[in-house]
Amino acid sequence: MSEAYDVVVIGAGPAGYPAAIRAAQNKLKVACVDEWRNTDGGYAFGGTCLNAGCIPSKALLESSELYERAKEELSHHGLKIGALELDLAQMQKRRASIVKAMTQGITALFKASGVVGLQGHARLLTGNQVLVKSADGGEKTLQAKHVVLASGSTPIRLNAVPHDGTHIIDSWNALELDAVPARLGVIGAGVIGLELGSVWRRLGSEVTVLEALEEFLPTVDQTIAREAQRHFKKQRLDIKLGTKVARASVTDGAVDVVYADAQGEHALKVDKLVVAVGRRPFTEDLLAQGTGVELDARGFIRVDEHCRTTAANVWAIGDVVRGPMLAHKGKEEGIMVAELIAGRYGEVNYKVIPSVIYTAPEIAWVGQTEEQVKASGRAYKVGAFPFAASGRARAMDAAQGMAKIVSAQDDDEILGVHIIGPMAGELISEAVLAMEYSASTEDIQRTIHAHPTLSEAIHEAALAADKRAIDTINR
Ligand code: FAD
Ligand code: NAD
Repeated sequence: MSEAYDVVVIGAGPAGYPAAIRAAQNKLKVACVDEWRNTDGGYAFGGTCLNAGCIPSKALLESSELYERAKEELSHHGLKIGALELDLAQMQKRRASIVKAMTQGITALFKASGVVGLQGHARLLTGNQVLVKSADGGEKTLQAKHVVLASGSTPIRLNAVPHDGTHIIDSWNALELDAVPARLGVIGAGVIGLELGSVWRRLGSEVTVLEALEEFLPTVDQTIAREAQRHFKKQRLDIKLGTKVARASVTDGAVDVVYADAQGEHALKVDKLVVAVGRRPFTEDLLAQGTGVELDARGFIRVDEHCRTTAANVWAIGDVVRGPMLAHKGKEEGIMVAELIAGRYGEVNYKVIPSVIYTAPEIAWVGQTEEQVKASGRAYKVGAFPFAASGRARAMDAAQGMAKIVSAQDDDEILGVHIIGPMAGELISEAVLAMEYSASTEDIQRTIHAHPTLSEAIHEAALAADKRAIDTINR
């Protein structure tokens, strides 16, 4: 006998678990199946984000930034604390306990909302049946009116750089190191390379980042990317652009890397080498023959703008489908799908998805870059405000970077907002909300921002777009 559900969600990451909860809130009978197991062997809900991504990386970014600030900035505030010591074991214990609390929180949320959380491997069969295999070898079949595929993504591996999990590692391994590597190599100067490179550099590693492209952060507004590059250089994050890694091998506990750039071939010896060259959709053993769910050429599950797959009543969301691999993008897709299944309104505004890189200074943006607006041919204006002119940023000892607004010349609509500076990831929310409501720079100009706050940088950038800034020279 199979168990019957209105909705079965496969995957309880930040795409799957919100889909399950919203579907239950919509009075549907829901099960959510997840196979994630942590290094201690235990099952946990939350997917990559909670177990091996967003949350543990932010925990270590916070701890390592505090360590660096205590080392380098406290004396400037007039604070003397004596010898500062790094207790990495405690730092990692804290990281693990945050992960545990957050993942256990999902179990509690499932319980409270009536979602049946199942732990084990799920496979979509024909006829909207889902076969679940649990760890003890038990099997059961669920019959679903709707199935939501939210199986996420997995790191891309490089053939010439064979992963061993000890010396040649991925981002998950790099979050769980129990000693600070004296020399850390990172392949890829993307989001993971910059965030994890920052963590270990702050804790004492000599970090070299090898990036294939000549351009640094090509998808980021280039004023912001250039400013970021300057800061990372000052921080001694050695980012080598335009490099091609030929091979890497492990000898006597160290990794020998051979890479080439315009000057020729070079050798690099590191203690750990993190491969962070992107992630790919994860669909291994997910779909039985004949389900009708199609993949595209890059392995993503093919979906329309409402996340409907090519099979009736089968939906797919999150990293396993097109679009940016971001937790909040997956969450909104999950909620949209749960609403549509219940016959309610659901939509994701793909034009207004914020991105944040949690380095110091933080980098955050939403909408189009200046380069994109220029290429579109639309006449535009730019307003920028440096945090050096922000009283709050100075009081925080974090007066680096700027806020920049790009808006249309004709109707003043905000087209993109780009920030590098303190709490940029928090500040961007104002811009997201403004763009969601098709606000103009004038709308932000006429909105009162508390003083002294970092948010005044957005206010002043909006004023600067019309050369009416008060606290900076209008250019
Ligand atoms: P996942 O989180 O990957 O979850 C998929 C789940 O499905 C997993 O638990 C998996 O075990 C399960 N599953 C897969 N197949 C099956 C099956 N057949 N049966 C049962 N279960 C299955 N994004 C941000 O927005 N902000 C950040 O700060 C951020 N930081 C990151 C840091 C790192 C180091 C990494 C690696 C990623 C980070 N991301 C961040 C990206 C973010 O983690 C992903 O975009 C997000 O987790 C995708 O959510 P998802 O639910 O689609 O997939
Ligand atoms: P990424 O796409 O951000 O960066 C990968 C980098 O590796 C790129 O710059 C690429 O040019 C480079 N690269 C690719 N192949 C290479 C090679 N052979 N040699 C050298 N460089 C090479 O991917 P990522 O950093 O691995 O992150 C994966 C995903 O996780 C991203 O899509 C990102 O959105 C998500 N993520 C988000 C956050 C966040 O939101 N703060 C944090 C971490 C990860």
